[in-house]
Amino acid sequence: MVKIDPSRLWKSIMETARIGETPRGGLCRLALSDEDLEVRDWLTRACEQLGCSLAVDDMGNMFATRAGWRHDADPICVGSHLDTQPTGGRFDGILGVLAGLEILRSLDDHGVETEHPIQLINWTNEEGARFAPAMMGSGVFARAVDKGAVLASRDRDGVRLGDELTRIGYRGEEPCGRHALDSYFELHIEQGPVLESEGKVIGIVEGAQGMRWYDLTVCGSAAHAGTTPMQLRRDALVGAARIVCDLNELAEEMGGGALATNGVLESTPGSRNVVPDRAFLTIDLRNPDDGVLDVMEERLDRIVSDRCSNEGLEFQLERIWSSPPVRFDSDCVAAVREAARRSGQPTREILSGAGHDAVYISRIVPTAMIFIPCEGGLSHNEQENAEQEHVAAGASVLLDAILERDRAR
Ligand SMILES: [Zn+2]
Repeated sequence: MVKIDPSRLWKSIMETARIGETPRGGLCRLALSDEDLEVRDWLTRACEQLGCSLAVDDMGNMFATRAGWRHDADPICVGSHLDTQPTGGRFDGILGVLAGLEILRSLDDHGVETEHPIQLINWTNEEGARFAPAMMGSGVFARAVDKGAVLASRDRDGVRLGDELTRIGYRGEEPCGRHALDSYFELHIEQGPVLESEGKVIGIVEGAQGMRWYDLTVCGSAAHAGTTPMQLRRDALVGAARIVCDLNELAEEMGGGALATNGVLESTPGSRNVVPDRAFLTIDLRNPDDGVLDVMEERLDRIVSDRCSNEGLEFQLERIWSSPPVRFDSDCVAAVREAARRSGQPTREILSGAGHDAVYISRIVPTAMIFIPCEGGLSHNEQENAEQEHVAAGASVLLDAILERDRAR
């Protein structure tokens, strides 16, 4: 039986963690930065040493291919992303790419000939921290996102993404999304506390929950804090704050994993002694069921219009982005389940609460994901951590799942 080398995998994680490392033990490796360039070059050298052919598409997505014996077969793919948040950790995304590299190395060590080519993918700009939106490389590949628009997107300094791709030398020839994939498997840390709290090591990811994002602007009227009686105020911030509380109650009342989050609340004019005339609020609703999201959206509309009319406020509510719930391919999930069972590790079925490259890719290619626990459920955080044994277990299940796929097809 083919086995990965757990210490070699751990060593590549720790070695690349020096590229963009922060003083607090995390990583700052923003998409298409000099640090991203350095880690891409590291991956390129590692794949070339294996004799893999390396292709880069015009979104900067990297594809390293280990040939199979059937020349007309589409590749079975593994991968994730090497970019991080500005105060990111050493495992988010990185685990999936470096476990993929370890798989290629292990297949070579054991002289394994697969029927399909095995392809390792590093997707460009999964995090969306420097250039918005997130999951760009996989989004364009899956034809869910417009390539022209993302190439033209700019970071805070006004630098265009397309120009940065050219500058770092990773704007390839192949049009993004041109080549076919047989299937796609992504290993990732859970980024939540469920596996750890239940003592499970492998999460068999069956799909991802749906998400809807909204922008809300509430308008009232600015007034003097010392001379305007309470009953005569039209305070935009108070209206928005009541909406925040109502939405939290709504999610709790609905239960069944319904989530409502308000990450941003800003008010103007932002002066201590002025009643705010304007408040801006972001709203993030999530649930595995699109019907439940429809109900939540209706309730959101009602909460906002009721609160605003009670407080004498005007508002503008706009849905700015949505991602429907996803069920991963049943054959690919079965391959993961079978590999997880054979590993003898404690497992559980799980849904992804976060977005991933796999969510876009699942629109066009049979896809599955594997989760391992991360310490305290912490991610997008410099303290993000995973156990070496869990990393090894996840990579072994990933290898076994793709070999299962290779046999079955
Ligand atoms: Zn990630």
